[in-house]
Amino acid sequence: MVSFVCAAVTAVAVSAGSGQADSLLTRARDLHRAVPMFDGHNDYPWEVRQLADKDPAKLDIRAPQPKTMTDIPRLRQGGVGAQFWSVYTPPSLAGKGAVTAALEQIDIVYRMMARYPDVFEIARTADDVERIFKSGKIASLIGMEGGHAIDSSLGALRMFARLGAKYMTLTHSKNVPWADSATDTPEHGGLTPFGEDVVREMNRLGMIVDISHVSPDTMEDVLRVTQAPVIFSHSSARALCDHPRNVPDAILRMLPKNGGVVMVSFVPGFTTPEAAAWDAAYEAEQARLEKANPNDEAVVKAALAPWLAAHPRPKVTVSNVADHIDYVRKMAGIDHVGYGSDFDGISAAPSGLDDVSTFPVLTAELLRRGYTDDEIKKVIGLNLLRVMRAAEATASRLSAVK
Ligand SMILES: [Zn+2]
Repeated sequence: MVSFVCAAVTAVAVSAGSGQADSLLTRARDLHRAVPMFDGHNDYPWEVRQLADKDPAKLDIRAPQPKTMTDIPRLRQGGVGAQFWSVYTPPSLAGKGAVTAALEQIDIVYRMMARYPDVFEIARTADDVERIFKSGKIASLIGMEGGHAIDSSLGALRMFARLGAKYMTLTHSKNVPWADSATDTPEHGGLTPFGEDVVREMNRLGMIVDISHVSPDTMEDVLRVTQAPVIFSHSSARALCDHPRNVPDAILRMLPKNGGVVMVSFVPGFTTPEAAAWDAAYEAEQARLEKANPNDEAVVKAALAPWLAAHPRPKVTVSNVADHIDYVRKMAGIDHVGYGSDFDGISAAPSGLDDVSTFPVLTAELLRRGYTDDEIKKVIGLNLLRVMRAAEATASRLSAVK
């Protein structure tokens, strides 16, 4: 692992635009043109729901969009070739409300496609991704976030697959009736027998099982049951930042056998211990204020302002994020790491990795650390194409057996 001090100095050099940094950025952009760069998780569809009354026309991203971390000019600048659009459902919506919300989020993705047909196209297979990328468009994949969105129904799961859902994150921040979350009190000890059925059905459908957000027990159960590679669509390494959302070493060691990929997140609180501690303190203060001022959001917000002024967020850098990529590479191998930003799902981003235009800065940092062009191609895209092809092959094998 590169030492923090050395890496931090170079990150400054990259942003200062020195000759070496410029040439690394140029090489990075060339690599983003050579293979489709996948990002594992972008919550723009949720922003459309929250900020624009579920209507992409009211949050137009054809021009620079100041309200979000995502718009078309910046996606182009960032050399994004394949985007998993997160179809997020909050855990507070249980039952049929969650199913409706997930359908509405998928509707938002389809309406984005219809509104910008020259920019985006839905991809259902690895071949689709390559074809769409070659045509100059951004391959758009649907990633469901939160297994409660199927309301414990395999029929609902099958219909979501027909709509094009390519992955499903088994839980969000709360347990579901069939799987434990990383950030809830363990209830099932991992997957229940029905949870195992969900994984098997996802294998049969060619849907990638996403084990970001689940507990380590659930991760282990999934790796025991699944016949296809898994992904972590937006998680980092627990050894570098001890947050329950991150991937423990024991799981990283299991990835080569499974073939899966950790798409390293840009979430500051998953990246450095200082940022994780800040998040915990902020959440505690917010909870205290909410308790003192129930149902008065405005008062809570006003009271948080002086706290924020007195407690500046610790700075997280591009280099800190690259450290996680290095670590996953060291523990699991170059075939098992990718990018999973969580843009528009985070309230703050690392400095230098502020929005979707900045992916090449991270790629340039990996080049600076000595990654070869072939290694970079794996990290930014080929690893995910391989996982998609393996999921498709598993689906056709299992269908043939039936
Ligand atoms: Zn998430």
